[in-house]
Amino acid sequence: MKKVFIVSSVALLTIIGVILIVYLRRTPVIYKEKEAFVMGTRLRVFLASRKFSPESLDENVIEEFRRIDAKFDPYREGSAIYKLNHSNGWVKVDKETFNLVETAVRYCYTTGGAFDPTLGRLIYLWGFAKFDERKSFKVPSEEEIRRALERSGCKKVEFNDKEFMINTNGVWIDLGGIAKGYALERAYALIKNLDPDATGFIDIGGEIRIVGPKYGRAPWVIGVKNPRGPGAIDYIYLTKGAVATSGDYERYFIVNGVRYHHILNPKDGYSARGAESVTVIADDGVTADVYSTAGFVMARDWRYVLVHFPEIGVQVMMVLDNGKIVKSDGFEYYEKSR
Ligand code: ADP
Ligand code: MG
Repeated sequence: MKKVFIVSSVALLTIIGVILIVYLRRTPVIYKEKEAFVMGTRLRVFLASRKFSPESLDENVIEEFRRIDAKFDPYREGSAIYKLNHSNGWVKVDKETFNLVETAVRYCYTTGGAFDPTLGRLIYLWGFAKFDERKSFKVPSEEEIRRALERSGCKKVEFNDKEFMINTNGVWIDLGGIAKGYALERAYALIKNLDPDATGFIDIGGEIRIVGPKYGRAPWVIGVKNPRGPGAIDYIYLTKGAVATSGDYERYFIVNGVRYHHILNPKDGYSARGAESVTVIADDGVTADVYSTAGFVMARDWRYVLVHFPEIGVQVMMVLDNGKIVKSDGFEYYEKSR
């Protein structure tokens, strides 16, 4: 009798335990949101974890963004890129700097030069180098642009991958079109290392890396900003991957009715024309960042972009400069919740 009692008690407790675990797994996780100002914009970390307090993950992420910002800001005296840009000949750099600059230059080749991380001198000339000083914006003379263009170009940059040395041959590296995506990927890896089951997203100035679905398989809903007014022009649903938008409406100034903004066309040294915004969805933050900038520069060839970006797993939506919206075929997949 006693034995039966013990056995049934153990069975009962086991059943209660199992039910409890199943119940806990099903209840939506609790999200914590944390904000910081970094890379000249707003960083939002929105995470849930059963293993760590989301606060501790947030702190790690914010710290990593600050580290990357300080290290790769080309106009901050003493940063790794500042040193590289202000030295002559071959320069020994640390592995991380070598890899990121090499990756950026590789994207320059694979985008036919549209994504160009060697435009530092031009970006500086236009006054887009500083995040806080709107006063610094100015339209340079044609002569100044010509000279800065002469000292730009990916083909000038040489690498020695055995000794981690770079020779910029006088160009200034500017990783503004890839740094946010890189930081997002680093932060994502950091979170997943600490807790593979963590969910949520990280948002750096509208560029978003999904860490995991909202709960179960529920997607995050992301609005695509109207480039010429308030509100959203579209919504996309993501459970993984990343989305980035490059636009002419965040950092710009207007002179004599002409809008000048911070994405430059490497061919002529002026602000790229043809689009108001370009949004891309990709598997990771680096790809999303690079291709939103590249797509923006290639906007006049939007038909080419719509066909060829999907071949490398990048879906794209473009708001052209006449207000018309065009999308790659696969983009539609993300416009529905499933
Ligand atoms: P945001 O940083 O506003 O999200 P992007 O990702 O498009 O926008 O990056 C723009 C930044 O990239 C500029 O501020 C500049 O530092 C750099 N940049 C400008 N033109 C180019 C270009 N053609 N290729 C690569 N980087 C560029
Ligand atoms: Mg970009």
